Amino acid sequence: MQSKRPSLARVHPAPETTWQQQYRDSITSIDTLCDALELHADELSTSQTAERQFPLRVPLSYVRRMQRSDPHDPLLLQVLPHALEEQEAAGYGPDPVGDLASVKSPGLLKKYHGRALLLATSRCAVHCRFCFRRHFPYALQNPRGDAWRSALDEIAADPSIEEIILSGGDPLVLSDRELTQLVGQLQAIPHIRRLRVHTRLPVVIPERINGELLDWINGCELDVVVVLHINHPRELDHGLQKRLRTLSAARCCVLNQSVLMRGINDDADTLVALSQHLFDAGVLPYYLHLLDKVQGAMHFDVDESTACAIMKEVAARLPGYLVPRLVKEQAGEPGKTPVAYQADVLPYPA
Ligand SMILES: *Cc1c(COP(=O)(O)O)cnc(C)c1O
Ligand code: SF4
Repeated sequence: MQSKRPSLARVHPAPETTWQQQYRDSITSIDTLCDALELHADELSTSQTAERQFPLRVPLSYVRRMQRSDPHDPLLLQVLPHALEEQEAAGYGPDPVGDLASVKSPGLLKKYHGRALLLATSRCAVHCRFCFRRHFPYALQNPRGDAWRSALDEIAADPSIEEIILSGGDPLVLSDRELTQLVGQLQAIPHIRRLRVHTRLPVVIPERINGELLDWINGCELDVVVVLHINHPRELDHGLQKRLRTLSAARCCVLNQSVLMRGINDDADTLVALSQHLFDAGVLPYYLHLLDKVQGAMHFDVDESTACAIMKEVAARLPGYLVPRLVKEQAGEPGKTPVAYQADVLPYPA
């Protein structure tokens, strides 16, 4: 475990630190985070109750991209257990997108045609306060007890599945050896053509994109798609951009999805800058999600008409390929639901 007060050396680790070491050295206490950012906990409306429900966890590399002494920093607000998380409201619950209803075998979710989602691990490098799986009963859904056997059997028995989405938790918490082994088992199933990896790990620890990762991606017999999860242009600093360029030069397609959140990225300037920075790193924007109504995250919600007005401006300022699709997830639908924002489709309040 980490000591309570990080020295400056711990906030600025030597560049050769491995991703595994950075993962272990993550900040897990509000006091340590406040110290690192020169903030007082009482400036921040933190909540021990929220922290008990979903503990703080954030790697130092991500903390270094936060502005010191700024209690409203958009990166800080994504990881800080906040008193507003204790609010309750109708429509907000522990399983907002109906995950549990789509479980086919422990850790295997199938909601959409042709695609199945494998919860490859319950662990993440960062705990995001807006996460729709923050209440997920991972202990009951951990597919790894028997080396993914029952999930793999289920996939092999369903020839309609063409694409496996590794999710979690964050699949890149697994070692490259474990991933190579899992991918080997998936590519032995004849009807699987594509492998998708949904991850936020390289965003918070860019060193996760290293030679071993690129080796198994380049060697994979399946078509590989990596979907990153970057919400704010300040997350995409020079170090991350450099690593992402090596990923986008590998044998894979690299996309990004974001969640639209109040006080974090709910303005056109921020979203335009995000798309442009992504493109500079070789990444294309894929989805911009409306917030999933998960218990504890309602203070991030942006209502649909505001979201539409923001996206209208974003679309007017960018080439089409840099405009993410605005979507929401509705339990029981055959895919993510597009949210229309063009004036001729949706009338706006004056
Ligand atoms: C979001 C999601 C997918 C992927 O949907 P795409 O629109 O293809 O990105 C697949 N399965 C589940 C269970 C999902 O929640
Ligand atoms: S990394 Fe993804 S799965 Fe993990 S807490 Fe953040 S949003 Fe949730």
